[in-house]
Amino acid sequence: MNTRHIEGIVITHPERVLYPDDGIAKRDVAAYYAAVMDWFLPGVAGRPISVLRSPEGIGQAGFFQKHPFPGLKHVSHIRLKEESGAMDDYLCPRDAKSVIELVQFGAIEFHPWSAKAETLDHADYLVFDLDPAPGIPWPEVVAAARLIRKQLDDAMLESLVRTSGGKGLHVVVPLHPACAWDDARRFTQAFARRLASTHPHTFIAKASKQERSGRIFIDYLRNTRGATSIASYSLRARTGAPVAMPMRWDELGKSQSGHDFDIHSARRRLARLKRDPWQDFGSMRQDLHRALEVFAPIE
Ligand code: ATP
Ligand code: MN
Ligand code: MN
Repeated sequence: MNTRHIEGIVITHPERVLYPDDGIAKRDVAAYYAAVMDWFLPGVAGRPISVLRSPEGIGQAGFFQKHPFPGLKHVSHIRLKEESGAMDDYLCPRDAKSVIELVQFGAIEFHPWSAKAETLDHADYLVFDLDPAPGIPWPEVVAAARLIRKQLDDAMLESLVRTSGGKGLHVVVPLHPACAWDDARRFTQAFARRLASTHPHTFIAKASKQERSGRIFIDYLRNTRGATSIASYSLRARTGAPVAMPMRWDELGKSQSGHDFDIHSARRRLARLKRDPWQDFGSMRQDLHRALEVFAPIE
C-alpha cells in the first residue's frame, strides 16, 4: 500500500510517531483504520461523533473535538440542537474517506452518539459501561458483565459485550425501534441502581471514585442525549495502542483484560474470524417496553 495516500487522502507526516512507547506512527494508525474499515465504519457512519485528536502523539495533551474544523473536505456536518438550546454543527462521518481524513487531522479515538443523525432524539442502543476500581481481578469484571446480561435477559433484552480497550467492558443493548432519551436514562438508571442495591459488594451506581473502592461502577451515564462511548474497533490513545473489541459472550471467559487486543492483534483476529461477533446487532428487534415496566414503572 502507498502509505502516503490512504482511501484517497494524503497523509502528511506519515512517519510521525504517535505512540512513542510502541513505535507506532501516523501511517500505521491510518493503515489500521483502512484495514478494519468494513468492521469499524458501521459503528460510526451517520452518527454525530467526538474524536480524540492527538496530532503530536499520545505523550502530548490530546483534545476531544465534536465540531467541524477548517481543512476538512470529506466529513459531513450535522446541525443539531445542543442541551443549551443553541444550534451547532457536529462531525458526522459517512464513509471511509471521512474516517481517514479525521486520522490525517490527528484523530485516534472515535466516540459516536448512540443515535443516528436522522433520529437524534432516539437511542438505538444502550451502553452499560463497567468501570472497575483499581485492583479488581478481571474475572470479577467478566462475572459482573454476565450478571448484567442475565438480568437484561430477564427483562427480555438481549445484549452484546465488548472490551473498552481500557480498563473495562461495555454491555450494549441494541434497540429497534430506538427509544426516547428520557426512557433510555430512566431505564438504565433504575437498572444500575437496582443492581447496586442487590449486589452492594460488587456494584456501585455512583460515579464517585472515593466510594468505588473494591467495586465496579456501573456507568449508565452514557445513555443521555449528547453522551458518547468509544466505537467498536476504535483505537485508544493509550500506551500499547489497544482497541475496543466486540466479542461473543462465549469467548469472554478467555479474556484477560479490557485491553486484550491492540492495533496488531485486532487485525489478526478480524482476519481469522468467520463471522461478526455482533452479527445480530442490526437484526435484533427489541424495545424497552417490558424492561421499563419491570425496572422503572411510572408510579
Ligand atoms: P475504560 O474501560 O478505561 O473506562 P472507557 O472508554 O469506558 O474506557 P470512560 O472513562 O469510562 O472510558 O468514559 C466513557 C466514555 O465517556 C468515553 O468512551 C467517551 O466517549 C466519553 N468521554 C469521556 N471523557 C470525555 C470528554 N472529555 N469529552 C467527550 N467524551 C468523553
Ligand atoms: Mn468505562
Ligand atoms: Mn465510564
